Amino acid sequence: MTALLDLQGVTAGYGPVQALFGVDLHLSDGEVVALMGRNGMGKTTTIRTIMRLLPLTGGTIFFDGRDMARLPAHRAARAGLGLVPEGRRCFAPLTVAENLSVAQRPGDWTLARVCDLFPRLGERMGQAARTLSGGEQQMLAIGRALLTNPRLLILDEATEGLAPVVRQEIWAAIRALKGQGMSILLVDKSLAELRAVADRAVILERGASVWSGRMARLDDDTAERLLGV
Ligand code: ATP
Repeated sequence: MTALLDLQGVTAGYGPVQALFGVDLHLSDGEVVALMGRNGMGKTTTIRTIMRLLPLTGGTIFFDGRDMARLPAHRAARAGLGLVPEGRRCFAPLTVAENLSVAQRPGDWTLARVCDLFPRLGERMGQAARTLSGGEQQMLAIGRALLTNPRLLILDEATEGLAPVVRQEIWAAIRALKGQGMSILLVDKSLAELRAVADRAVILERGASVWSGRMARLDDDTAERLLGV
C-alpha cells in the first residue's frame, strides 16, 4: 500500500546534540500506528522532526507524496498534519469556541462534529480554556487539531496525567476516529490500550527504530525487553 507517511533513516537533534540515529516509519492511509519506546528514546523528537519543528539532518520524510525536507517549516501543518502536542497547549485566556474557531480550515470537520465527538466541549463553549479540567483541555487540543482537517492526526501522550475515567473517554474518541477512517500516529505509555487500537507499532531505542510490525505480533518478551513492561 502506498504510504501516507514514510520516514527512512531519519536523523535529527537539538543543535549539536544528536537525538535520532535512524528512524524508519511507514503509515498507510487509514492506519493507526503506535510509536513506542521507553522514556527519552526519541518519540517526541521524531514527531517534532515530522512536523518540521526540528531540522532533518539525514534521511527522508515523505508525507502524502511530498518531500517534507523541501517544505518550509511553517507550511508543515498546512500540508495536512494535525498535531496534538505533549502538554496539550491551548490558548488559555481564549474561550473554547475561540480556541476551536481559530483552528478551523475547510473540510468535513466542523464545530458540530467536534461537539458530537466530545459533547462536554459543546457545553463549555463560552468558558475560558484555562478553566477547563485536564481532560477537557485534552479534548479541546484534539478538537483543534481535527478542525484543521488533517490527513494525519498525531497524538503525543494524549492520555498522560489524566484520571482513569477521563483516559477512557479519550481512548473511546480515538477508537471512534479510527472507525471513521482517520489515519493516526500515536505516542502513549499504555500498552494495553495501544494494543486495542493500533494496527501496527514502531519501537524506538536510543533514537533508532529497532522493531516494527503488526501490533498483534508484538509478543510479551519483546515488549518487556524494549518497553520495560
Ligand atoms: P518521553 O517518553 O520521556 O517523552 P521520548 O521518547 O519522547 O521520551 P524525546 O523527548 O524525544 O524522548 O528525547 C530524546 C532525546 O533527546 C533524549 O536523550 C532527550 O534528553 C533529548 N532531548 C529532548 N529534548 C531536548 C532538548 N530540547 N534539547 C536537548 N536534548 C533534548
